[in-house]
Amino acid sequence: MNNLLKNILLFLLAIFVVTALFSTYNEKNKTKEVGIEAFINQVNNEEISEVIIADNELRTTLKNGEKEVVKKEANESLSTLFKNFNVDPNKSVKINLKVKDESGWNFWLGSILPFVLPFILIAIFIFYMMRGIQGVNSKAINFGQMDTKDATKSKKLKVSFKDVAGAKEAKEELKEIVEFLKYPKKFLEVGARIPKGVLLLGGPGTGKTLMARAVAGEADVPFFSISGSEFVEMFVGVGASRVRSLFQKAKKSSPCIIFIDEIDAVGRRRGAGLGGSHDEREQTLNQILVEMDGFEPTDNVIVIAATNRPDVLDPALLRPGRFDRQVVIDNPDLKDREEILKVHARQKPLAKNVKLHLLAERTPGFSGADLANLLNEAAILAARQNKKIIDHEELFEAIEKVMMGPERKSRVITEKEKKITAYHEAGHALVAHFLPNTDQVHKVSIIARGQAGGYTLKLPSEDKHMHSKTEFIEEISVLLAGHVTEREVFGEVTTGATSDLRRATSLARSLITDFGMSDTLGSRTYGAKEEMIFLGREIHEQRDYSEKVAEKIDEEISHFIEQATEKAQQVIDTKREYLEKIVSYLLKNETLEKAEFEKIVGKKGKQL
Ligand code: ADP
Ligand code: MG
Ligand code: ZN
Repeated sequence: MNNLLKNILLFLLAIFVVTALFSTYNEKNKTKEVGIEAFINQVNNEEISEVIIADNELRTTLKNGEKEVVKKEANESLSTLFKNFNVDPNKSVKINLKVKDESGWNFWLGSILPFVLPFILIAIFIFYMMRGIQGVNSKAINFGQMDTKDATKSKKLKVSFKDVAGAKEAKEELKEIVEFLKYPKKFLEVGARIPKGVLLLGGPGTGKTLMARAVAGEADVPFFSISGSEFVEMFVGVGASRVRSLFQKAKKSSPCIIFIDEIDAVGRRRGAGLGGSHDEREQTLNQILVEMDGFEPTDNVIVIAATNRPDVLDPALLRPGRFDRQVVIDNPDLKDREEILKVHARQKPLAKNVKLHLLAERTPGFSGADLANLLNEAAILAARQNKKIIDHEELFEAIEKVMMGPERKSRVITEKEKKITAYHEAGHALVAHFLPNTDQVHKVSIIARGQAGGYTLKLPSEDKHMHSKTEFIEEISVLLAGHVTEREVFGEVTTGATSDLRRATSLARSLITDFGMSDTLGSRTYGAKEEMIFLGREIHEQRDYSEKVAEKIDEEISHFIEQATEKAQQVIDTKREYLEKIVSYLLKNETLEKAEFEKIVGKKGKQL
């Protein structure tokens, strides 16, 4: 924008100069041009008062003040001219003669500039245009030379292990890498091979990128970061040359760390794809492998890569000598969640009575990034209400917002719809409460949030990593409870239960095909999950069983669903009075918190 304005100003200025010059030039032309004979006549008649002799013309001033120009041959002097025309020397003497040195700078500028200037302007214009084009061109030429960011250079980005909460094991593992970078001699002397590559594995938002930066910060070495997708460009061969230039740069500033984020973008199993772009990816991957083999342990360059899809990586990347260290970063557990919240609460004015461990308890399955986001959302909520500090209220509101999207209080629903939603959610809550192996109900709401018309928030009392068949069946019961309640109360069902049904069905299917929990179909998996890059969805299930088995699976799914429905039905039938109480509370207050809920139904685990 600024540049454009400057160019326009420059252009206007140029136009101004040209017009000014042209007008002076024209003025000069306004003086009358006369022939030599007329001039001689004037001399003879003593009409001339002054003559300025220029190279090829005479500028005369008449006694009456008029100005004239007389053209003459360049090498003919005025005296010879007078002689040739027999002018009376007495008369010529009276004329005031001046010789002008017209070969001077002024003259040339004055006479040449008007012709040259347009060309100069055009040249400048073309130059500017070319510069724009050249920018593009030189970018194309420099494509291969990645401008990798050295994150350690800017102070702001300096991260240390202190900023990474939790993830103890991962940190222990990576501390070793820091040692390698700081004191390589110590390891080389005893013949230890310094690892070349470390692969950080973990779900999205678990802090892999953060961790890699922390390693660089701790070791205090340069940190070249590049994302896998940056290797893949429009042009074939760019990826490979970028890899080359990246490693070259790194070797020059060793000891250092190369960080390849989202390596799965280039590191996918080779030979799996179709079409040209995959060839490009393979070349890039090959180049990475070659470079990693190429540098010596003494080079002291360590490559850290991060991915959340270790399953799709090419096995060649994972063999010893390449990414032979693999560090898993899990979603944080209860204690780690509290730690992460503490880290991110450092610059936020929380109310004194805020207990972060309560927040941690309410957020199982949240990743580090989710938790950071949660505190940020809470801060935004507080600011919107012009509060100076963040209360529990905002924090808990933020949890639900992060989980399910913002509340949509403005959605207009009819009384009838509201009633159906209330029964539906009350059904979920009731079944979740009275079945023995389900999670605790924390909140029931009939305020629309995100996609859901209402929601029942249940949370496990502890972080669980294994689940039994009974738990799954009961989970399906809870999912179906809304549907069952609607049918029980209104005699028919609405579309509100669609996503519940879908989730219930797919869970039932997983029990059989993935977990081997069916008695009739036995302990095996069904269906080979394969990655198909050209499909929109990445996972494509390939059938590895017969039609007969497919039929059996369908039957078994129905069987599980029936079992679960029965359980739900049983709860709803026997606890109908509680259902009504919950519904009337919801219709009045729209949300029902755990404490109120327990006042109605009692504490979990003491019934049935
Ligand atoms: P990933 O690369 O694994 O997808 P990031 O490293 O980009 O995740 O993490 C995203 C954000 O989440 C970080 O910037 C940080 O604010 C927060 N975060 C994640 N894990 C942690 C952690 N263990 N401690 C502190 N903050 C974390
Ligand atoms: Mg990342
Ligand atoms: Zn539902």
